Amino acid sequence: RSPLDVTTIRQDFPILAQQVNGKPLVYLDNGASAQKPAAVLDAMERYYREMHSNVHRGAHTLGDRATSAFEGARETVRNYLNAASTREIIWTRGTTEAINLVANGLTAQLGAGDEILISHMEHHANIVPWQMLAQRSGATLKVIAITPEGELDLDSFEQQLSERTKVLALTHVSNALGTINPVAELVARAKAAGAITLLDGAQAVPHFRPDVQALDCDFYAFSAHKLFGPTGIGVLYGREQRLEALPPYQFGGEMIERVTFEKSTWNALPYKFEAGTPAIAEAVGLGAAINYLNGLDRAAVEAAEHALISRAHELADSVPGMAIIGTARNKAAVMSFKIDGLHPSDIGTLLDQQGIAIRTGHHCAMPLMDFYGVPGTARASFAFYNTLDEVEQLFTALRKIQRLFV
Ligand code: PMP
Repeated sequence: RSPLDVTTIRQDFPILAQQVNGKPLVYLDNGASAQKPAAVLDAMERYYREMHSNVHRGAHTLGDRATSAFEGARETVRNYLNAASTREIIWTRGTTEAINLVANGLTAQLGAGDEILISHMEHHANIVPWQMLAQRSGATLKVIAITPEGELDLDSFEQQLSERTKVLALTHVSNALGTINPVAELVARAKAAGAITLLDGAQAVPHFRPDVQALDCDFYAFSAHKLFGPTGIGVLYGREQRLEALPPYQFGGEMIERVTFEKSTWNALPYKFEAGTPAIAEAVGLGAAINYLNGLDRAAVEAAEHALISRAHELADSVPGMAIIGTARNKAAVMSFKIDGLHPSDIGTLLDQQGIAIRTGHHCAMPLMDFYGVPGTARASFAFYNTLDEVEQLFTALRKIQRLFV
């Protein structure tokens, strides 16, 4: 198809064609969760109608079909991330569970005197598991400072990185600010210092395709629901030797090799980390979402998103008292903002009355909100199916709200 024909693309997303509160839906809450193309809905329905059975129990044909759909999706994810092997692709419930899996597994590898380095712009999912690991192991949690524009302070990074740094855990793209961090450089520096590196890719994968081998990180986590796939499933990419060195996260069926009452041994990768019956239809749905994305011209997607966020930034001046929070040079299509005299949650409610969906609040990044001295922000986050006209509608509504309520 022609490079990013948004009118046609929107027809692939049935949910978008509806009225909300008497107005055409303008969905600008993609950072919280993105909508699903019909290809994903169809793949999941087809799976349940034609193939469903438990996986890896191959005594019958449906079991074989389910297993090949499920493992086929794993290969699709491997290819999307450019991982070396499907042994490195672990299904999880999402980014949160992926990070917990790693932080939990590192308990025995860390001790007093060791440091875990994160940043001031992390989502709670990339803070709290490390805080708990620090408490369990006696290690210290260190935080890379950020600049007022919402970029990582690279001097702060250099000052804090040392041979004591055992883990660097960073977000690839900030959910609250949109900042795209220079993670490949930081991973290289941390690796040279001997640290294990984890990237939180939850907000990166919907905007561009990461290459885990080029990034050279040890772990990369993301959630399907932000990548136009279903809820309930996500991925942990792990470098094979790092995964081998981690103990299992949960115990039970699937993840074992041999069980006796005295002792159990673990299955090979990736199954060692996949206890219990997995989210099979959801894996198939994620595979379908990636196949859908692979059918788009990704350079055109990035260009279109860039046009949306640039236009939004230009229009900020047209709303009296509006300020954008997060003005990094390199940012994804996310705009956090505040308007003098209006509480973020009121902005959200008033926009909803116009059919416009955004997110308001602390965005699971309370330390970041503290840094900016705000209780929360209003956040519009764009996807490739959004239009420039929707950006105009957002600002027309914001000007109206400002006029009537401030
Ligand atoms: N990290 C970031 C940067 C996120 O934006 C999110 C979701 N808001 C998460 C982690 C957690 O993802 P999930 O809730 O899907 O586990």
